[in-house]
Amino acid sequence: MMLLTMLLAVAVFILLAFFRATLLSWLLAVMVIVPVVAIQARLSDTALQAIYLLLFLLLAIFGVPVLRRKLVSGIVLKVFRKILPAISSTEQEAIDAGTVWWDGELFSGHPNWEKMLAYPKCGLSDEEQRFVDNEVEELCAMLDDWDITHNLADLPADVWQYIRERGFFGLIIPKEYGGLEFSAQAHSAVIAKIASRSGSAAVTVMVPNWLGPAELLLHYGTEEQKEKYLHRLARGQEVPCFALTGPFAGSDAGAIPDYGIVCKGEFAGRKDVPGIRLNWEKRYITLAPKATLLGLAFKLYDPDGLLGSEVNRGITLALIPTDTQGVAIGRRHFPMNSAFLNGPTEGRDVFIPLEYIIGGVERIGQGWRMLMECLAAGRSISLPASSVGGMKMAARTSGAYCRVRRQFNMPIGQFEGVEEALARIGAHTYMTDAARSFTALALDMGEKPSVVSAIIKYHSTERGRIVVNEAMDVHGGKGISLGPDNYLGRSYQQTPIGITVEGANILTRTLMIFGQGAIRSHPYVLKEVAATREVDPDKAQHLFDDALFGHIGFALSNAARSFVFGLTGGRGIPVPRDVVCRRYYQQMPRFSSAFALSADLAMAVLGGSLKRREKISARLGDVLSLLYLCSATMKRFADDGRPASDLPLVHWAMQDALYKMQQALSGVIQNFPNIFVRAMLRVLIFPLGKRLMPPSDKLGHEVAALLMQPGEVRDRLTYGMYIPDDEQQAIGALEAALLSTLECEPLQAQLHAARREGKLKAMEELQRIFEARDIGLVTADQALLLERDYALRRKVIMVDDFASEELGVRQS
Ligand SMILES: Cc1cc2nc3c(=O)[nH]c(=O)nc-3n(C[C@H](O)[C@H](O)[C@H](O)COP(=O)(O)OP(=O)(O)OC[C@H]3O[C@@H](n4cnc5c(N)ncnc54)[C@H](O)[C@@H]3O)c2cc1C
Repeated sequence: MMLLTMLLAVAVFILLAFFRATLLSWLLAVMVIVPVVAIQARLSDTALQAIYLLLFLLLAIFGVPVLRRKLVSGIVLKVFRKILPAISSTEQEAIDAGTVWWDGELFSGHPNWEKMLAYPKCGLSDEEQRFVDNEVEELCAMLDDWDITHNLADLPADVWQYIRERGFFGLIIPKEYGGLEFSAQAHSAVIAKIASRSGSAAVTVMVPNWLGPAELLLHYGTEEQKEKYLHRLARGQEVPCFALTGPFAGSDAGAIPDYGIVCKGEFAGRKDVPGIRLNWEKRYITLAPKATLLGLAFKLYDPDGLLGSEVNRGITLALIPTDTQGVAIGRRHFPMNSAFLNGPTEGRDVFIPLEYIIGGVERIGQGWRMLMECLAAGRSISLPASSVGGMKMAARTSGAYCRVRRQFNMPIGQFEGVEEALARIGAHTYMTDAARSFTALALDMGEKPSVVSAIIKYHSTERGRIVVNEAMDVHGGKGISLGPDNYLGRSYQQTPIGITVEGANILTRTLMIFGQGAIRSHPYVLKEVAATREVDPDKAQHLFDDALFGHIGFALSNAARSFVFGLTGGRGIPVPRDVVCRRYYQQMPRFSSAFALSADLAMAVLGGSLKRREKISARLGDVLSLLYLCSATMKRFADDGRPASDLPLVHWAMQDALYKMQQALSGVIQNFPNIFVRAMLRVLIFPLGKRLMPPSDKLGHEVAALLMQPGEVRDRLTYGMYIPDDEQQAIGALEAALLSTLECEPLQAQLHAARREGKLKAMEELQRIFEARDIGLVTADQALLLERDYALRRKVIMVDDFASEELGVRQS
């Protein structure tokens, strides 16, 4: 009887936690359950009286808000104030920058799918679509990536002119300034399409629309600055660049040694002009060698108090015409055989007037925050779009190549080993593209989601790296031999660029995604931190009490939900009307609760040291990121009208991500530096062990088959990439060869059989085709088809060769 009561009591507590019951409900439950258990335990009268007294005290302390704030949350607030790790001003500005979007839902342990599915459908306006179909298509047709990267080490003059004149540098600039004022979705589509043709051209278009002077001016520029520069930038009359990084400040960009001293100087023939004397040394600056307008980040000091009493004025941004006296620019770095312009810039005692500060003197010292805000927007679009452009190209060409290329008398894509690679290529491309447009949607909804921008930057470039690596493997020597007919080699070489820029990936994964997310996207932590900073003691106590008890309820609820869903595998969770994906909609909340629980425990137990525990932080970030990618995949599938033919891609991507979530959480538990928490998490999150499996071989086979088959799935997967219809070009020939291979397959089988039976004697394939025609085995038209098929396959299979001189080899 006693055991039954205890079990019932535990069940009631789990239910209270599960449904996030109010504090009052908890108190009532304790008031009823504890006496019942005590009576059943036949305790002495004195013990019972002591328990009643304790319960009364508990009721008074927790049930009367004034007492609770004094005796519980007030004391915790004091402890919090002491132990809260110091947050540097740059970290604080990064945390404050941007907004919380779907990441907040994923942190809640209870994502609202109806809300996500009700977000507008991703798409372009008619005007934007026309631009993609015409101007972008034409630009792509003009691009010859081999010529650009090997011969010219730059875009040809007519391409530069086309880009500038057709407004490619003004994608984000409003129409009132002569720009195209495109949505984030369209901006992303433009970059993705160009990237599927030429990485160098994509970067050239990308940078002015990304973290460039235009974005900064639009948000923070004075009216005069906007009028002066935005028209010119939109028309491509200015080539902008932005310089933050230097030799001694890379990832730790807040530590830039570049400085400016407020002073008076001579400028444009005027004396005693209030301004800044600048010294900087920057490197890796994209477009710098050709830039006419240099955005510069530096630390400003005012030792003579010309602007006020504060000497150290903080990171400040200025816009400097590159013909200003003392600006040194023009030499080039050579990033992985890319031809986009990139190089160092230097300035020694360069005098600029105060009007050059972006946003004017009011914006002095706000540079870091300005960069963080703009970074979130740009990082959400440019690198994801360029990665996805490359992935689509790799997916489409790999599928076709694996069908056309035969070894051991079979298309190589039918070998199980190659199928595995194709499955990863297809499913990662599907999921990353979903996340790309989901994130662009956030921007179009007016969000600036900083945590999401880090997630998408990291995962799009990492998955891009996986896909291009796999594509290289399945292409064998064809991928390795560079030349005009190699569509993969440059993409492969340039992959580390996306990995490194905009927050190098190791840092992004280990420090930024969860590091920022834990504070930024968590429903209570930021409120608690804000309460500790509140100066009015009464207000601070109220705020903190609300946040603390909200947080406790949240944590208990996540513990209960993790445990219950761990037992059921998420079964029973109500899901949106989606018959085929309902299990995913159930598994994601399970992991969302488990993630929120682990995140809370990690913060509570490890406190400030979590910052240094990058491996734990990274794994928690992985779970959050994978939940985000899975959400985007569900949204894409729903937006596309849930086509059944896409299901192998959806299933593979989702099952892979869910399995990886399980492994990441398991890694957190296994490495948690506290044995008690380790044991507790294991029971609460995996009460029945780790039961999810990676996608099956059969599913991988289905995905690979879809990639090798022309049709709607392959077209949807690679929608938006540039496909030349010219058979003289490598990808054009490959497309034609795929169709021709399939068309000629029955004829090839006929020829093969005839050869085995000794009816065809010629040693060479072409000769055999003629022989077959001559003996009436195939008609003249069929022979022509076979002949064309042979020529196309040969074009696809052959690689470029060069005379030594063409490769620039010097004779010794
Ligand atoms: C082609 C190219 C174009 C660029 N364009 C521009 C531009 O236009 N403007 C501009 O200002 N900058 C630009 N950059 C600079 C770019 O943003 C930096 O390269 C980047 O910030 C990394 O700095 P770093 O190369 O000095 O690497 P480092 O900072 O030296 O990092 C080296 C490694 O250490 C890791 N790391 C560093 N700190 C941590 C940490 N706390 N935890 C875990 N890992 C860590 C990094 O992830 C990285 O893997 C460009 C760079 C390249 C290569």
